[in-house]
Amino acid sequence: MFIAHRIRLEPNKVQATYFARAAGTARFAYNWALAEWQRQYQASLADPALPKPNGMALSRQLNAIKRIEFPWMMEVTKNAPQMAIMQLGRAFKNFFAHRACFPTYRRKGRDDRFGLSNDKFRVEDKRIRIPKLGWVRMRESLRFAGRIVSACISRVAGHWFASITVDMPDGLSLPPAEDQGAVGVDLGVKQLATLSTGETVTGPKALRTMLVRLRRLSHELSRKVKGSRNRSKAGLKLAKLHARIANLRRNSLHQLTTSITQRFHTIGIEDLNVKGMLGNRCLSRAIADMGFGELRRQLMYKAAWRGGQVVVADRWYPSSKLCSCCGYRMEALGLDQRQWTCPGCATQHDRDVNAAINLRNMAVSSTVTACGGEGTGPARERRAKPAPAKQESNGEAALGSIS
Ligand SMILES: [Zn+2]
Repeated sequence: MFIAHRIRLEPNKVQATYFARAAGTARFAYNWALAEWQRQYQASLADPALPKPNGMALSRQLNAIKRIEFPWMMEVTKNAPQMAIMQLGRAFKNFFAHRACFPTYRRKGRDDRFGLSNDKFRVEDKRIRIPKLGWVRMRESLRFAGRIVSACISRVAGHWFASITVDMPDGLSLPPAEDQGAVGVDLGVKQLATLSTGETVTGPKALRTMLVRLRRLSHELSRKVKGSRNRSKAGLKLAKLHARIANLRRNSLHQLTTSITQRFHTIGIEDLNVKGMLGNRCLSRAIADMGFGELRRQLMYKAAWRGGQVVVADRWYPSSKLCSCCGYRMEALGLDQRQWTCPGCATQHDRDVNAAINLRNMAVSSTVTACGGEGTGPARERRAKPAPAKQESNGEAALGSIS
């Protein structure tokens, strides 16, 4: 399993200049290879005798001409253009496998990064050695002990970071989850998450004020003259705010997922059709802000590190509409209906807590039926198709525990 640790760098002026130059070289190589790829591809269509383009060949072709045509490329590590073309090769591979869109050109200011393969750099305590440059200070030391795979040096809002990928075959083995059993997590719009224990987790409050500021800053930026010094200043200000907002979100998500996986062994979540929900314009902003997909991804790998498991409900599982007490199914439940009373057993429900309890029950019953008990083997994502009502799922659970 590959784990990346992103560490802020503290380059001096000379080093920062080198980084910018290396990133520029990588970007140039990437864009050169992308243009060349398309040209060679067209040529191979016209003349089938010509070879189809590939990353390795392009890398060799660039190496053959760069000394004469682009001598400034020699000022930085040759790893930068090399890795960039390798990344382009991977981008095309992903495109052909329908995993990604057609590769696009890299842009200055947006794609300021370059890669290093593991034989080209070294990490020692709080510093990293970059070829043709020397040691650069890092804010903290590398947290994971494993085989180093590669590094990516990138600039975000004026700061440089090193993202170092480490291969940890077994992931991190953390102490197992506390003995709090199973939990259901209902992801919401008002609340970031509601747990089946009744706890609610709100997103970061600071986010709202920052979003107001974001709107103002982007408006200010749009009124500055293009190419002016003031515009670039305003642009950096805006980029910094974007980075802060992203950091806030990331932090709150990590805190939430760490706490859940620390406390609970079995975690039931819903399979949100995020794309479908994003079509709903009222909801879209809040959902995109919260990063549901990311939340789920973190739950998955963090649970795995502690030997826990995440059970994802079927997309059509009506977690909000079922009564968690008697299994009655409400046919019509508006999105704005936060409270409801079950016509079957007259229980008063909080919409989110009830949904979370249903998800917990779903997770518990599906793990019992799927593997005859908790904690068999390492945690993996399990897709459950839960029974439509609780009585039936009880029946299944009973059967499962006997067999
Ligand atoms: Zn009921």
